[in-house]
Amino acid sequence: MSTILFWFRNDLRLHDQPALHAALTSGATHLLPVVCLPSADEVTPWGFARVGAHRQAFVASALRDLGVRMAALGNPLQVCNASPATALPALAHAVGATTVVCEDIAAPYEQAEIAALRAAGLQVRTVWHSSLLQPSDMPWPVTDLPAVFSPFRNAVERAGIQPRAPLPAPASLLPPPLVPPDVWSALGAAPALAEQGANASDHPAGRDPRSSFPYGTPACDGSEAAALAHLAQYLARKLPHSYKATRNGLTGLAYSSKFSPWLATGALSPRQIYADLKTFERDHGANDGTYWLWFELLWRDYFRLLHLQYGAALYGARGLSALPAARHNAQGFDRWCQGRTGEPLVDAAMRELAATGYLSNRLRQVVASFLIYDLHGDWRAGAAWFESQLVDYDVYSNQGNWLYIAGRGTDPRGGRRFNPVRQAQDHDADGSYRRMWGTL
Ligand code: FAD
Repeated sequence: MSTILFWFRNDLRLHDQPALHAALTSGATHLLPVVCLPSADEVTPWGFARVGAHRQAFVASALRDLGVRMAALGNPLQVCNASPATALPALAHAVGATTVVCEDIAAPYEQAEIAALRAAGLQVRTVWHSSLLQPSDMPWPVTDLPAVFSPFRNAVERAGIQPRAPLPAPASLLPPPLVPPDVWSALGAAPALAEQGANASDHPAGRDPRSSFPYGTPACDGSEAAALAHLAQYLARKLPHSYKATRNGLTGLAYSSKFSPWLATGALSPRQIYADLKTFERDHGANDGTYWLWFELLWRDYFRLLHLQYGAALYGARGLSALPAARHNAQGFDRWCQGRTGEPLVDAAMRELAATGYLSNRLRQVVASFLIYDLHGDWRAGAAWFESQLVDYDVYSNQGNWLYIAGRGTDPRGGRRFNPVRQAQDHDADGSYRRMWGTL
């Protein structure tokens, strides 16, 4: 008997799961699938929780669904309340395993997790599978990524690079090994089953009627089932056709795709979205809206590739730029977080973010610009607040967009300043959004 550990990270799904596929076809006879919950007490250097209540609730519902699906295939998912560096070596020791398979994540915190496992003597096989396009399918080595998005997109399109087809969910799993109960209890572990823990729909903030993504309702919970159902209804309602025209909206579920929360936890694969979008185009026609969904998913890939190219350099105070590091404006930052800067559009947006865990792309741009250019704050504190609050927090997209707005990424045109007064005139002309959040 040989056991392999499978560590779920930001890939909480069974469909299109190349890392799980690699574990299942590794030759091992038993599989130990594990997830490690980040500690709710973990605090950022800026003094607030790294994972706020919205994301905790959303991820919890994703885990419950994954647990149910895996239990039905004969191998329940185990959820450990311990860091991977504590849990995985202890479990490997208990079952005589030497290898862990998991998703490859090209960001410093996540790479340090892998380094800690290797330092503990485990063999770690990482599998890259979070992007739409495979980095090795690109027409250039990862170190030669074009510095600007448009040349990148043009080169991808000219070369005709296509996503690989999504893998089907496995029809069966390997059986679990026996783990002594005291090992599980030492790790605070329990199987992720439907009846356990608070339900996301019990979280009142997840059902705020003002939310554009009410993650506490069954249609928007974190499960893979909800993710796939959401994709199906988005296509059935032919919303891709109007996406380009509506994507800068501020309220409601339908103005943009709302794929991001499930993409962030991994409950939805970008390649599944693309495959279904192509079927939609075949059946109902392509237009600028369907093209623009591909365009935005390419932005998502671009920030992933940027991480493969620059890694930890993206996380310094100056980013990739020669600009002086910004000073942290602690008072301004607190007012910004609480939605009390005195700028009605910014305050409305920051109140929406704190109350619901979601914010439109347009308003993410406006509030990031305000912190950087009006409050002269440190962009890294803003990125950390987004990490804490967003249900769709994605390390690559968050860091990449903050760097881009701050003018500290690769784009030679410098940063992006958004005038909040003009943005309010363009996107909230009747003031209804600001009134909804009590700032007008
Ligand atoms: P849609 O408009 O429907 O877009 C479809 C998909 O394309 C999205 O789900 C997303 O995967 C991708 N996409 C769209 N815009 C971008 C973009 N600018 N950058 C990268 N990918 C994009 N997105 C996250 O997923 N997680 C984050 O933590 C995050 N932080 C951000 C921080 C800032 C400062 C800014 C300006 C943007 C951030 N974004 C982030 C990007 C974008 O705002 C969200 O992806 C988008 O609002 C999610 O809603 P949607 O799925 O309805 O997007």
